[in-house]
Amino acid sequence: MNKFNQKKNNFINRIIDKDLASGKCKSIHTRFPPEPNGYLHIGHAKSICLNFGIAQAYKGKCNLRFDDTNPAKEEKKFVDAIKYDVKWLGFKWDNVHYASDYSEKLYNYAIELINKGLAYVDELPLDKMREYRGTLVSPGKDSPYRSRHIKENLFLFSKMRNGDFAEGSICLRAKIDMSSPFMVMRDPVLYRVKFINHYRIGNRWCIHPTYDFTHCISDALEGITHSLCTLEFQDNRRLYDWILNNISIKNRPRQYEFSRLNLEYVVMSKRKLGLLVSLNLVEGWDDPRMPTISGLRRRGYTPKSIREFCCSVGITKQENCIEMGALESCIRRDLNERAPRIMAVLNPIKVIINNLPEGYEENITMLNHPFNLHMGTRQVVFSKEIFIDRNDFFEKTVDDKKIKKLMLGKKVRLRNAYVIQAESIKKNEHGVIDTIYCTYDPQTLNQHPLDKCKVKGIIHWVSAIKNIAAEFYLYDYLFTTNYPFSEDFLSYINPQSLTVCHGFVERNILYAENKKHYQFEREGYFCIDSYHFSKYKFVFNRTVKLRGVHYKNKKTQDANNLHGATDKLMKS
Ligand code: ATP
Ligand code: MG
Repeated sequence: MNKFNQKKNNFINRIIDKDLASGKCKSIHTRFPPEPNGYLHIGHAKSICLNFGIAQAYKGKCNLRFDDTNPAKEEKKFVDAIKYDVKWLGFKWDNVHYASDYSEKLYNYAIELINKGLAYVDELPLDKMREYRGTLVSPGKDSPYRSRHIKENLFLFSKMRNGDFAEGSICLRAKIDMSSPFMVMRDPVLYRVKFINHYRIGNRWCIHPTYDFTHCISDALEGITHSLCTLEFQDNRRLYDWILNNISIKNRPRQYEFSRLNLEYVVMSKRKLGLLVSLNLVEGWDDPRMPTISGLRRRGYTPKSIREFCCSVGITKQENCIEMGALESCIRRDLNERAPRIMAVLNPIKVIINNLPEGYEENITMLNHPFNLHMGTRQVVFSKEIFIDRNDFFEKTVDDKKIKKLMLGKKVRLRNAYVIQAESIKKNEHGVIDTIYCTYDPQTLNQHPLDKCKVKGIIHWVSAIKNIAAEFYLYDYLFTTNYPFSEDFLSYINPQSLTVCHGFVERNILYAENKKHYQFEREGYFCIDSYHFSKYKFVFNRTVKLRGVHYKNKKTQDANNLHGATDKLMKS
């Protein structure tokens, strides 16, 4: 059963339980209301999981509503991407709505407010309007246009709609209280003039309602019962209620605020993410370093891991910042179960095994998964020439138990294969080792060496004859600070957030059962890069390293399981 079908003990569920018990509402209707001005990020995923999760848990409904009344940055491509991401996360909306479809209704509600003497057309220039608003510590001042006659307001508002005024020269404002301690209540703007083509309604309208005016009315029109948003809208709740209390509308939704998701090492605002894209600091909105849903998908995150993460952070009113490790451990947990194991060498160095005949090849049977035997086995070619990772060789020979590498005169086990000992090395003209010459012990295929000599460690390898050349994209955090939240966030860009390695992977990658995710043994979880991968070029993104306290224990367990399971397999 999906975790979202379960009611959790958070303050929103307690409110809903109370509302149902008191008969305040009969069924629950929520909505996820993105503005289509960018791609969704992991913060939105929290809101999606909350809104759709509540609908599932209470057998209610959840709408997807595009809050699209600001034509400046909204685009159809964002609508499509948002729908795709919501579906990909595993949620189905009951209805899809567009606030821009409510244009005529919103206009009529504005007329109703004017008729009630609760809205007026203001012609204060923008800088004056700002000045007249006052500050947090000083009250605002009434606009000289505040006391216009209703008839004049109606006439001017219809002229605004007709396009008779220039942008910024005029607006419709609610008439509330210029000395309210809540700035949002100081005669907020309800409509402004903008001669910009709207991606859905074209240029049929040149006046556009503000977020505050649109949002509450859209909620009411759709019969939303609980309108959940992030804490920065706390003050706006007063305006939300004021508007709905003053128009003739049937339904009465209530707004509740929860703390937004903040995550270390990432920026989480569409504006800042868009800047990274437009400055070409990343490859696009779906760059695997981006905290967007599309970036996480391309990085190899699964919908399940993102849902689990959103579920684990909880719903409160406390502002906090979640460690990246929390997100990483969710994807590790999921991939640990589903990703087949395979070997890949990211920084290859050649090993030639002296005591094997020229052209020697042998098929070794290996498990695809250490504890899911249903994932079967594969044949891995072991040959006279193999690649190991450059980092698994230590040039000096030292007696240090902590160094688990191949050294001259020392032994290591090739994972799921034989024990080898390094005998000599060859360097190129730049003094860089290009070949390590070894001997292997033929008695050691899944057996301890007879001389009981301890091996330094277990290293992974790939045949130098039968393999696939591949590129590996290794990612680090996009920022050098874990709190890149200030406006100068661009000065914290990590210049080393992407490392590209050219190496080799087992040929079995061509036939691996799971088409997208793999664990490259000892290197981490990887996935095929949807953008750069082709028949001619194999490119993998490292989703996450095999790391962390959690994992260390798991890793030993994995290794034990693997050897136990391999033993069973060999004996059968
Ligand atoms: P951004 O600041 O990234 O541009 P936004 O709030 O302007 O985000 P919207 O498209 O208006 O983006 O957001 C849709 C919904 O997602 C809103 O209800 C909003 O409160 C919620 N949301 C946005 N960011 C977060 C976040 N970091 N954590 C939780 N919910 C969020
Ligand atoms: Mg918004």
